[in-house]
Amino acid sequence: MTYQGLIQRYGQYLDLPAHTKIISLLEGNTPLIPMPRLSRELGCELFIKFEGLNPTGSFKDRGMTAAISEAVGRGAQTVICASTGNTAASAAAYAARAGVRSIVLIPEGKVAAGKLAGAIAYGAEVIQIQGSFDDALSLVVEITQKTPIALVNSINPYRIEGQKTGAFEICDVLGSAPDWLCLPVGNAGNITSYWAGFKQYQKGLPRVLGVQAAGAAPLVLGHPVEKPETIATAIRIGRPARGEQALEAAQESNGRIIAVSDEEILSTQKILAAEGVWVEPASAAGLAGLLAESAVGKFEAKGKKVVVVCTGHGMKDPAVITDSFKSPKVIPASYDALVELVGA
Ligand SMILES: *Cc1c(COP(=O)(O)O)cnc(C)c1O
Repeated sequence: MTYQGLIQRYGQYLDLPAHTKIISLLEGNTPLIPMPRLSRELGCELFIKFEGLNPTGSFKDRGMTAAISEAVGRGAQTVICASTGNTAASAAAYAARAGVRSIVLIPEGKVAAGKLAGAIAYGAEVIQIQGSFDDALSLVVEITQKTPIALVNSINPYRIEGQKTGAFEICDVLGSAPDWLCLPVGNAGNITSYWAGFKQYQKGLPRVLGVQAAGAAPLVLGHPVEKPETIATAIRIGRPARGEQALEAAQESNGRIIAVSDEEILSTQKILAAEGVWVEPASAAGLAGLLAESAVGKFEAKGKKVVVVCTGHGMKDPAVITDSFKSPKVIPASYDALVELVGA
């Protein structure tokens, strides 16, 4: 049978109410790409779970199909979320698919152009907040407590249910869980979901390496960060809603949560692009963390299977690349000029 989306495929493992009405864009089923060159360098067997290939370009679609399907099934007419960008685009797309109204709150001036454009293209009402993501999240929580508007941030439990499918897919492809799972941590919904998914699927448990950006690393510092700053806007979060669960996942799995600098994130983004995988900055954090641990001898690589989750596509945040790059060379439209330049 042709692929019909995550709820069709894994619904039996997802705790969704009977009223759920499936709204799908055939999300999930993303490739687990082997990385032979990096594997040789690190001395392990490395795979990238490329979540940028979801319908709106990030893993958020896994949780959104579940959250919107539940909300629409119970009759919600309007959904709302706070977002650093990808949740907004995803909520907007699934709301559009369902024919309901979507409202998204974003921190003013801090959302990548491609993500904002997505939310607008899919028809969301986009509102900028003079404040951080954390401020925006407080507001959507309050309005959804006081009105019938449905909340689709990852404090919505169905988001977590849907996002567990990433773990299921990895186990289905590898035959069992990997030894390590590395991923970026922002609001900490994804690390919570993966850990719950691996536990439920009973194909073994990975050790979990969660990676924050140094300027937004509340789980490493042990306290909230009032003014989080990082180029990796998708993890620019100072007060993670599921911080406790992220720490539990790291502890129970005998893993850890670490921080990497923006420089490490950007250099890792280039390393991935040099392998043909272009991810947004936040998405490079998982591999950046693995490389950092490996460099200081804290990663026992030998014979290990490692999956790095690359959470979102690079195409949504092109300014990170183009701003640091002079315009491409210009030549006359002549064969001679071309040959002279390329040196064939
Ligand atoms: C949302 C997001 C994250 C962070 O995930 P959390 O569940 O908030 O920890 C990381 N990378 C990308 C691309 C995202 O969109």
